[in-house]
Amino acid sequence: MTSDPFSPLLERARAHALAYLADQPDRHVGARGTRVELDAALRIPLPAQGEDSAAVIDLLAAQAAQGVVVSGSPRYFGFVIGGTHPVALAADWLSSAWDQNAGIHATSPLSAVVEAVAADWILELFDLPHESAVGFVTGCQMANFTCLAAARHAVLRRVGWDVEADGLQGAPRIHVVTSAESHVTIDVALRYLGIGTRALHRVPSDAQGRMRADSLRELVATLEGPIIVCAQAGNVNTGSFDPLRRIAETCAAHGAWLHVDGAFGLWARASRSRAALADGIELADSWATDAHKWLNVPYDCGFAIVRHADDHRAAMTSAAAYLIQTKGEERDAVDWVPEFSRRARGIPVYATLRALGRNGVEKLVDNCCERASQMARLLAAHAGVQVLNEVVLNQVLARFSDDDEMTRAVIKGVQDEGTCWLSGTTWHGQAAMRISVSNRATSEEDAARSASAILRVFDSLSEPDWRSRPGQAVDV
Ligand SMILES: *Cc1c(COP(=O)(O)O)cnc(C)c1O
Repeated sequence: MTSDPFSPLLERARAHALAYLADQPDRHVGARGTRVELDAALRIPLPAQGEDSAAVIDLLAAQAAQGVVVSGSPRYFGFVIGGTHPVALAADWLSSAWDQNAGIHATSPLSAVVEAVAADWILELFDLPHESAVGFVTGCQMANFTCLAAARHAVLRRVGWDVEADGLQGAPRIHVVTSAESHVTIDVALRYLGIGTRALHRVPSDAQGRMRADSLRELVATLEGPIIVCAQAGNVNTGSFDPLRRIAETCAAHGAWLHVDGAFGLWARASRSRAALADGIELADSWATDAHKWLNVPYDCGFAIVRHADDHRAAMTSAAAYLIQTKGEERDAVDWVPEFSRRARGIPVYATLRALGRNGVEKLVDNCCERASQMARLLAAHAGVQVLNEVVLNQVLARFSDDDEMTRAVIKGVQDEGTCWLSGTTWHGQAAMRISVSNRATSEEDAARSASAILRVFDSLSEPDWRSRPGQAVDV
């Protein structure tokens, strides 16, 4: 059909995408192109006359080879970035083709129903209270924001303050308690919410990065007024879990709202062999998690889950006269998320959960954890390599020659070598390599190959002259 303007471009995009994906497992994992090179290839004055669409697509595809981080590689272990499941990508393509505005039921009944069903599945998978409300947000940053907005509403409502109407000017002061190891997105959420980071009390954490439940209990007993406690399921460095049951008991005793940041750790609930790590998590009031990490759906996708649907809705809903909002059985996403118009990001979630099933998600989680343990074992068996954490989930912290400079040099060397990619961190004052396994495609062979590459780099650097070689590791 010559009148169809989409086919030639989509066929082209499909060919580029398939070529990229076929090649992905064998590619040098880190990005190759520098900013200067990419800028030289891409920067032109805004064209007065448009260019040929196919040529634009080809140009972008050509630059992708240099400019993309191959984060879907089975040997990409940076940050906590999952790959993409094929069914998730296929469903995501369709969502783009349908271009749904998922804001309200009236603008996309398909999206609304898919989200409602996927929300039920998510609560079942995580074994969280079935009455909880679920918002499909861009990621865990916005999940933390949304959950803490619900918390802010609830703790102030209980002391007779209507934060949605009166804001925070003159409001009772809210105490927020986190551990010394909480994720920075908690701080950012408090800034967005007008609570401010000075409201934060930080409870010390133990050697694995877990909040000290006894210190929390002592601290909370000294606080007057509304309290929100933010616990963590899955420390970004060690993968450890705060002692959630004991924390929940303290919160219940003092009427504090308990929020859990479980960006990747909440997925431990999908695994029978790891669920015990998150024991007591079901006692919390709200939970934030990502789907683009461990469910392996494309960016951007996370869930804000709140036990008390009324508090969640009160904090998020937008009502306007022209909206055809439904107050009955239909779901309007604007009631549960900060965005108004938004992408139908529930569609890839639905497709992935349906295609994997409960067992498939469990297998995904277990495989990543087993690959992390495998890498930890292979590294620790080598002289001069220490694994700094108890590998309870998918995170491994390794240190080389017990030396900051050597550890950073190994990280940089591995990034340049390209078999795998991982980044560095500073763990309790010491430089460490941080390995995060969160891609369904990482095989036993990938883990073995990666550990060998790391040890090869370490051995080559252990020669006497390594300190004089140039290079700085990416430490994030
Ligand atoms: C990744 C992460 C976040 C932030 O999630 P985004 O999806 O990047 O917004 C928050 N908390 C923890 C523990 C994380 O690992």
